[in-house]
Amino acid sequence: MINRKQLLSMIEEMETFSPSNAKIKLEQYATDAIASVELGFIAGIMHADLQERLVIDLGAGTGRLSITCLFFGAWRVIGVEIDLDAIKIARDNAKKFGFDDKLDLIIANVSPEKFIIRRKLNKDDLDKEITIVMNPPFGVHDKGADLRFLMAAINVPRVRVIYSFHLKNERNRQYIRNKMEKVNWEVVSLYQTEMFIPRLYKFHEKTRKKVEVDIYRIMPVE
Ligand code: SAH
Repeated sequence: MINRKQLLSMIEEMETFSPSNAKIKLEQYATDAIASVELGFIAGIMHADLQERLVIDLGAGTGRLSITCLFFGAWRVIGVEIDLDAIKIARDNAKKFGFDDKLDLIIANVSPEKFIIRRKLNKDDLDKEITIVMNPPFGVHDKGADLRFLMAAINVPRVRVIYSFHLKNERNRQYIRNKMEKVNWEVVSLYQTEMFIPRLYKFHEKTRKKVEVDIYRIMPVE
């Protein structure tokens, strides 16, 4: 067993986006290690939503969140990502931690309209319940991206629960709650945390910026 501190330093040391490869139009920011572990703890320990689950990570990027879920006992993770450069990094990271057979990476555009997860499920996955995790683009450079990710998530068959990071503010909370209610899903809980965003893009002024975020736990209305 590894402890929280060891897990944090392993995740922090993972290869991730750098100023030379990060693509701003895709809002590529590595999920902060503390926030990743926070999500793993909330989903895996508090709600038992990771062990033995098939986890799907939308916008998997360099794999921090996917690999965190594997450390918390996920059966298997399917990471969906549009950018091949990020997928290559995620693949190397999985290998480094011995999770190469447990992290499957699909190159695809996450969108509510055309979603292709189904074809990746194999026989052993079929009796597993599905948990979706994601740190989607917050919609700052790609307007509406966060909602598109949520709508794509609820369209995946057999999803039990979604964990998703969004910028913390009251308007966002109200907006996401309303949108989910309209499609018969519900924001069951919100957990506040923070992320440190390193200086990746030219317009960043500070070397590190603290951003307050919420982790949403979203479920279908029974
Ligand atoms: N958890 C990831 C970072 C998520 S940042 C990590 O640890 O690295 C958001 C990710 O969503 C980026 O990797 C970005 O390339 C991806 N993305 C943005 N738009 C997308 C789309 N339409 N379809 C799939 N992935 C997308």
